[in-house]
Amino acid sequence: MKTIGLLGGMSWESSALYYKTVNELVKERLGGLHSARCIMVSVDFAEIEQLQASGDWQKAGELLADEARALEAGGADFIVLCTNTMHKVAEAIEAAVRIPLLHLADVTAHAVQRAGLQSVGLLGTAFTMEQSFYRDRIASHGLEVIVPDAEQRQSVHRVIYQELVLGIVTEESRAQYTAIIESLQARGAQGVILGCTEIELLVSQSNSPIPVFPTSRIHAVAAAELALSE
Ligand code: GLU
Repeated sequence: MKTIGLLGGMSWESSALYYKTVNELVKERLGGLHSARCIMVSVDFAEIEQLQASGDWQKAGELLADEARALEAGGADFIVLCTNTMHKVAEAIEAAVRIPLLHLADVTAHAVQRAGLQSVGLLGTAFTMEQSFYRDRIASHGLEVIVPDAEQRQSVHRVIYQELVLGIVTEESRAQYTAIIESLQARGAQGVILGCTEIELLVSQSNSPIPVFPTSRIHAVAAAELALSE
């Protein structure tokens, strides 16, 4: 079994989901007492959030590149960056290590394709919904990406930073997300990417009229499958 290098803490609420999912998948596949071989570095999210807010992506990239080097030195066979947003600095991470990065947007696009959909809504932080690093990577797989309007993007972003990364889950925000998903559906989305690793704490398939693609689950399952591959 390969060793998974989890680069987490962004936020720890979703990194916990990754840890649980990779272990559950390995147990399911191998049975008995088997569990996933993995190491995790978990950063201080307050530091990352400040760099995001001030737009200092260079420093954020350097910081995460250092953590990726630590994973490589610790014996990781590949890196799993446990956040959609910080894939903005994926290239800085890839340049710092010899081991591969399992890119979240690629495994998510593959999941959407496997479901046979062509057009998909995207919920996430404002960075993820508005900037090209994520949308274009999904679109490069031949998928149409539909994002919420400006006002809706603001509320999706607010709920992530003021509630979900703090472990706060409310019925009001859940209803708000469902309404936004309904409007994405009305604009042609056949499914919706929960493109922030905490959204699945709030929204599940039962809250959505169209198929949901929960990115921390999809990414963690892909990581466990890669760890178990030849
Ligand atoms: N975990 C979130 C994501 O998947 C947001 C936190 C962050 O900004 O890294 O984008």
